Amino acid sequence: MAQRSLISSFVSFDGEGVRRGYLGVPHSVQESAYGHIAIPIAVAKRGDGPTLLLTGGVHGDEYEGPLVLYRLMRALAELDPSGRGIILPSVNHPAFLAASRVSPIDQIDLNRCFPGSRDGTATQAIAHYVAAVLLPLISIAALSWSRSRVAAPPRSVRAGAQMSSGGPN
Ligand SMILES: [Zn+2]
Repeated sequence: MAQRSLISSFVSFDGEGVRRGYLGVPHSVQESAYGHIAIPIAVAKRGDGPTLLLTGGVHGDEYEGPLVLYRLMRALAELDPSGRGIILPSVNHPAFLAASRVSPIDQIDLNRCFPGSRDGTATQAIAHYVAAVLLPLISIAALSWSRSRVAAPPRSVRAGAQMSSGGPN
């Protein structure tokens, strides 16, 4: 049986309506023995139905997912969704703030450390939360990926760039 996560959820997953809050990842530092890293989250629920999880920013240097999901998070009240939606626009928030593939806190790639560790580093604790707390709640998951600065652009993007510049010289 999975151990309970040490990450606190400052948003309710139950109850009707749209709620925005954060997940608190324990992070003891010089200035705060009981400090935490806040990861933005939104939950929208209306009636019974499947639960959809949307995440972006597993790698902090892939911006398209977070951009779309933060916009969606602001528009949730107007969308009148049915069922339950959970949005984590930048699941590895420290990496997103640093525009970095790996977390600046522990130098770990979130996408390489699932199912994570309850008592591990910040990134390992986030992976454990997603695997142990969020995944059992959901029916459908949609994860955003995009090109990071360390990966080569897809061939179609390179071809488009060549066409728009008049082709290779
Ligand atoms: Zn990625």
